[in-house]
Amino acid sequence: MKNKSVIEEADDVRRAVEMVQLGARMQMLEVETRLSREKLLKIYKEVRGASPPKGMLPFSTDWFMTWQPNVHSSLFMNLYRYFTGPAGVQGLDAILKSYHLYLDHIEAGVIEPALSLTRAWTLVRFFDADLLQMAACTRCGGEFVVHAHDPVHDYVCGLCNMPSRAGSARRKTTTRKAVAPTRKAASASSRKAVVA
Ligand SMILES: [Zn+2]
Repeated sequence: MKNKSVIEEADDVRRAVEMVQLGARMQMLEVETRLSREKLLKIYKEVRGASPPKGMLPFSTDWFMTWQPNVHSSLFMNLYRYFTGPAGVQGLDAILKSYHLYLDHIEAGVIEPALSLTRAWTLVRFFDADLLQMAACTRCGGEFVVHAHDPVHDYVCGLCNMPSRAGSARRKTTTRKAVAPTRKAASASSRKAVVA
């Protein structure tokens, strides 16, 4: 790109280094800086001591809906919305600040971060493209990532409604002790489980 000043380029290098340190893939670096691919490859190798992985980013919105990724993505999006709202931070800076804070939260809880920086970046792009939205859980009031245009008036989040028995719920052979409550209640709840 033309008219690139030395200061702008230095700024791009600094951001590229920070993104690589946080685990960014090449696609993100190419979109978010004005540096050449050659220069980015050089930075990548220097910071990580290895070449970047090849291939496309396999991400679809569905990944963000699975249970653990959804909890992590929702935490990230809440931080991101704080930075882009009340804190007035924009663009890549908001993503990087949110991601740092996300890692702080996750590491404080001694959990593995399920959300990579590149996925977090993709998540923001999905929001920008109106493919995803936030919905408030009707039980805990927390805000969670859901598909855009999903009905959300009775939304219940993955923390309030933990997935478990989903497919293998009720097998004929295991009903010996569990039938204790009234038959009506049991059949009502099994009907609910089928609907869910
Ligand atoms: Zn909830």
